[in-house]
Amino acid sequence: MQHKTDIRGIGMTSARTRDRLVQRLRDNGIKSNAVLEQIRNVPRHLFVDEALASRAYEDTALPIGLGQTISQPYVVARMTEALLDGFEGEKVLEIGTGCGYQTAVLAPLVKQIYTVERIRELQRKAKQRLRDLDIYNVQFRPGDGWEGWAKYAPYDGILVAAAAPELPEKLLEQLAPGGRLIMPVGPAGRQDLVMITRKDDHYEQVSLGAVSFVPLVKGK
Ligand code: SAH
Repeated sequence: MQHKTDIRGIGMTSARTRDRLVQRLRDNGIKSNAVLEQIRNVPRHLFVDEALASRAYEDTALPIGLGQTISQPYVVARMTEALLDGFEGEKVLEIGTGCGYQTAVLAPLVKQIYTVERIRELQRKAKQRLRDLDIYNVQFRPGDGWEGWAKYAPYDGILVAAAAPELPEKLLEQLAPGGRLIMPVGPAGRQDLVMITRKDDHYEQVSLGAVSFVPLVKGK
């Protein structure tokens, strides 16, 4: 069982370091205790290269190779909190699995996650990490997030971890009535995190503030 203990990060990074991160997110306005508990529990150092593990509990994005990044904890917390506030559904579509950190934070808080990533190598590693963490309510798909994942649509929530110049049509279509889509929209340097809620006959949009994400690449 020593192996499992290490995987869960006990001893690898101190509880104090994680507490400090949680406090920082709280100070910056994250209110959901369920989300903050997940930020405390998920061993973020296992989602980055060993060389960066000592920085894993800083509130900052870090490189994960192949030109991609692990999202900043504050942003992951903000998106998760926005998605879950008043959430009544079961199914969430995630676009941009990356290293799988956002997926791991969200997984215990919803029934089922469907996650799409275009870089197969990242997807393969994310799948392995989540299995090591005993997370089983996630289905992975290599592919283009602009297309969503029609097979399991509609989704009660959609989280997109890469920025697009406009809202992808397919994602709007795959949103269930009452469902929400949270994603960064806009060009590099001027991205806005938006939350779209699907109403009976229209979509409502609110802004959650400025963010900085890698681009949602077009095509495979
Ligand atoms: N969710 C991650 C952050 C991922 S960074 C975390 O928790 O840290 C954004 C990811 O989106 C990258 O892995 C990138 O490869 C992926 N991506 C970019 N464009 C995409 C597209 N069109 N379809 C699917 N994934 C895409």
